[in-house]
Amino acid sequence: MRTLSRRTWLKSLSGAAAAASVTTSREADLLAQTPAQQPSSGALPLTEFQPKSMLVVPETRVERAKFPVIDVHTHLTFRARGVAGVSHGEAMRAIATPDELLPIMDRRNVQTMVNLTGGVGSGLKETVGRLQQPHPGRFVVFTEPSWDRLLEPGFPRWQADELARAKEAGAKGVKVLKTLGLYLREQITTGPLVKIDDPRFDPMWEACGALGLPVAIHVSDPEAFFLPIDRFNERYEELHAHPDWSFHGKDFPSNAELMAARDRVLARHPKTTFIGLHVGHGAENLAAVSQALDRFANFHVEIGARVGELGRQPRTSRKFFEKYQDRILFGTDAVPRGTQTPQQIFGDDLYTIYFRFLETEDEYFDYAPAPVPPQGRWRIYGLGLPDGILRKVYNENAKRLLRLQGPAVPR
Ligand SMILES: [Zn+2]
Repeated sequence: MRTLSRRTWLKSLSGAAAAASVTTSREADLLAQTPAQQPSSGALPLTEFQPKSMLVVPETRVERAKFPVIDVHTHLTFRARGVAGVSHGEAMRAIATPDELLPIMDRRNVQTMVNLTGGVGSGLKETVGRLQQPHPGRFVVFTEPSWDRLLEPGFPRWQADELARAKEAGAKGVKVLKTLGLYLREQITTGPLVKIDDPRFDPMWEACGALGLPVAIHVSDPEAFFLPIDRFNERYEELHAHPDWSFHGKDFPSNAELMAARDRVLARHPKTTFIGLHVGHGAENLAAVSQALDRFANFHVEIGARVGELGRQPRTSRKFFEKYQDRILFGTDAVPRGTQTPQQIFGDDLYTIYFRFLETEDEYFDYAPAPVPPQGRWRIYGLGLPDGILRKVYNENAKRLLRLQGPAVPR
């Protein structure tokens, strides 16, 4: 970890030679800006508003995580074919090669990336051969359910047995996308939505427990995505840019109904380990996430793409990390390229933001490498977690749940 003055940091960001001769950080900030267009009417379109903070506070650049990191939520491969939000077939699409990923991982002290969307059948074998097998300990691969085969006779038993074959092929867990609950329908892409707690999946959940495959599950989405896209919606800009992310109206269940269905699954399969992605699908409401953690011993959470939420409630978050330090896993939801969401772009910048959030007490900084905060117009505050919690969140909790080999975290 090294501390930079605001001016040095700014220079390193913009490479602005002009900034070297100025005397105050505020002047440097102003110089770094391109000349602003003056609004003619006094009204400034929201999309053009990019206010620069005038706060003069310490800025810490955390080059490397304090302990080796297991990033349990990344997407390095995807199924090649999707129809109306449901993956079809076994063909895969790889997003990046290990050669592109490993140097960044080494620079940032990321020991392992867990590729959740590792595919099924022959596609899974291909992913394991591409990532996990040639680089043991650096990449881990999860498999996925084959929702596209739901209508085939004997699906419930077949899917459960298929997970045993996936484990044999190298899968270390099962990823369930929000497809379940929000996209999968009775005729796969048409008909009524299939419920998260549909009994046809009970053999699958049970098999996960019996096989020791943790389930990384994404249920629902930010509650704002279920509300009208209007001036009261705190995710207005994001939803305006991606109206297809909205689950308001139509035949979508409410966020509360989705959570209740999830809870029935957690209750029905106590021997199955569930990792609730994106802070257990409730980063804006840590009281509700805490209730689920208190109620279900088989439930854990991961923080991917939610430092924007955790970091705007630093006191509540800090208590949450203290209380549930054995049940929180580090993840980023990183995608190496081709994503429209800056908060998920794999790279040096993404990791330094997460590390700064967890390790420092810096104030009011960006939660994503983007000119405008992409998940809502606010900034975040670091938690300054102690070493004991960092060790668990960065590494030990994931290692235990995913049953990974590997060196002990340095003391
Ligand atoms: Zn994800």
